[in-house]
Amino acid sequence: MLNFVFLGPPGSGKGTQSAKLIEDFGFIHLSTGDIFRAELKSGSPLGLEAKGYLDSGQLVPDEVVVRMIEQKLDANAHNAGYIFDGFPRTQVQAEALDALLESKGMPLNQVLLLEVPDAILRERLTERAKTSGRSDDANPEIIEKRIRVYQQETLPLTDYYSKQEKLSRVPGVGHIDEIYARIRIALSI
Ligand code: ADP
Repeated sequence: MLNFVFLGPPGSGKGTQSAKLIEDFGFIHLSTGDIFRAELKSGSPLGLEAKGYLDSGQLVPDEVVVRMIEQKLDANAHNAGYIFDGFPRTQVQAEALDALLESKGMPLNQVLLLEVPDAILRERLTERAKTSGRSDDANPEIIEKRIRVYQQETLPLTDYYSKQEKLSRVPGVGHIDEIYARIRIALSI
């Protein structure tokens, strides 16, 4: 079992690279953003609760996110490994994930940080808006907000995971396959 966290700013390519890893290795993908968008689409109470945060580029409250991840982990107790994508995004969430995995006797093996300069993120998100249908991609102010929230809330997690000696930095600029090769090297798979 290999469980790892994908850290990286919005638009860094975590979803794209996760899809390739799932196809090749069969990981279970826990993308909090994807889950919230699916809940929203189905009109569930959780989706409605998350909507305002997603639309404005703010973080959904920690307790809502942690409860959701807890349920997803319970629902899939036995498997080859999880990719945590978009979670944790705050110190509180990182500590909650450690506690949750420990309670289940599961390791968190590694944390990959996909590094992409802000100017390239803006370009990618603006381009993605043309096809994603995501309102948070379509508005430049919301994009800036998400990048700021990432820098303030999520980037400090690199310290947290460096101290645990789990952090690997992967340059996220280049051809998709080239980045994928770097990720496989970082994960030794
Ligand atoms: P991106 O990484 O491109 O910003 P995501 O799909 O990961 O997009 O997340 C979209 C939105 O979902 C975030 O801006 C936030 O509102 C919400 N969200 C996703 N994951 C979390 C989380 N772990 N904690 C709080 N909010 C989250």
